Parts: sequence; structure tokens; C-alpha cells
Amino acid sequence: MVQALSSSAQTAQSELPFVEILGVRVHNVDMATTLATVSAFVDAGNPHHVITADASMLVMAQEDAELKSIAAAADLVTPDSAGILWAARKSGRPLTERVSGVEIAERLCAESAARGYRIYFLGAAPGVAKAAADKMRSRYPGSDIVGTRDGYFLEHQTMDVIEDVRASAANILLVAMGIPKQEKWIAAHRDRLGCAVLMGVGGTLDVLSGQVKRAPRVIQAVRLEWLWRVLTNPRKINKVMLLPRFVRLVSSRQ
Ligand code: UDP
Repeated sequence: MVQALSSSAQTAQSELPFVEILGVRVHNVDMATTLATVSAFVDAGNPHHVITADASMLVMAQEDAELKSIAAAADLVTPDSAGILWAARKSGRPLTERVSGVEIAERLCAESAARGYRIYFLGAAPGVAKAAADKMRSRYPGSDIVGTRDGYFLEHQTMDVIEDVRASAANILLVAMGIPKQEKWIAAHRDRLGCAVLMGVGGTLDVLSGQVKRAPRVIQAVRLEWLWRVLTNPRKINKVMLLPRFVRLVSSRQ
């Protein structure tokens, strides 16, 4: 089910090659194609939903029709876990590489000044989004982080959050509220936020702020970052508990 990439329209979502895993289309993109696609979305200006899919999301989507249809309607779905790469390999249609939310987010900050990206960080505990913005501004001088807000606002404050994002004139909104809350929030409000790119990024702001360390490179290289996360943050156990089901579901569909 891998489709050919047309050279004339490499950044058009409908042209991107994909692999279908548990009924969800995951695009076969590397980091360079992802960044080029996001750049094209920003140039186009209308709202585009970018999803970074991991194994837990695909398991959740089996029982959550809303999440599944949001993933089906997304403009770009990148492979964000070793489990997704494994499932694609097992089906005989390997994906090029892992394209994680945290790495995309940092690259967008790095390219912000050169490409005119105005980025809003929405999510994580109070103070974390601002700390992440401060870190990015000092690491990438000129990066335009135009607003921050924590992800623990109440339902009745939603309009206020939407107004703040609109007023910031952000063209890229990174929503760090965890799967599936962030995807549902984006789908519900995408047309009111005034942003060209809306992307759910999970725990990215915790990492960019320096509060949570990524696994050492050697652990990432042997694809055991998930194990590192559980050992350093036991709350992650719920997510890891979904992995055996992912393996069973993928294996039963071969
Ligand atoms: N979070 C939030 N609002 C909520 C629930 C969670 O802003 O109502 C934040 C939380 O503080 C953390 C992130 O969402 O920064 C979830 O990170 P995690 O790594 O668990 O995300 P996932 O594994 O779902 O990608």
C-alpha cells in the first residue's frame, strides 16, 4: 500500500506515500520531507492538522472512533515510535525513519527566524510552556515564540485560550496535552485558531523546557526510549501497557 511519491507535488498531502497500520494511514516521510511539508502548509495558510503517531495512539484508535476519524482526516501523520516502524517492517512496507514530535518541534523553532514561523506553545503544567519558550529563544536566537499557555485550563476558559492564540497571530500551534486530548482539541477548534499548522506534541514541552530528559542517544539507537521513559516516569506505565496489545493486533492482521 505504499504509494509512489510524485516529484511535482512532493509536499501535497494527497501525494505523500503512506503505510496503513491498524486502519490508520501513516505517511512514509523522513524529517526533511516533514519539514518541507509543514513549510508548504504554512505557505498555504489554511489550517492543517499534523499528527505524530505512536503505537499507543493506534491502539486507542481501535476503540475510539472519533480519534480514528481525526487521524484519517489529518493532513500529515508521521511515524513517531519504534513500534510503528516495527509494524511497517512486519507488513513488508518499511517506513524510512522515526519522525518524532519533539524533534519536529525543535527544528521548527530552529527554522523560525529564517522561515517566518510564529509558534505558540499550548500545554503542559503551569510554567513549563514559558520555560520551554525561554530555552528555545536562547538556543535559537530570533526564534519567534509568540505565546505560551499551560494545558490545564478549564472548559469555560477555552474561548479565552482560542482568543489568545488568535491574537498572537501564530501560524504554528503546538498542542502538548497528551494523546488523544490534544488531537480532539485541535480537531474541535482548528478553524477558529487562525493557525496554518496545528500539531499535537505530547510531552515535548516537558523535554524542551529541560524538565524531562530524553533517553541517552545509545538507548534511542537501540530503540529502547520507551523503556527509559517508564523507568524515569512511572506514570508512563499506562502507555507502555498498550504495547503488547499493539503487537497482538498487528500480528493478527498479517
Ligand atoms: N497535559 C496537559 N493537560 C492535560 C493533561 C496533560 O497539558 O489535561 C500535558 C502534561 O502535563 C504533559 C503532556 O500533556 O506535558 C503529556 O505528555 P505525555 O508524554 O504523557 O504525552 P503522550 O505520551 O500522550 O504523547
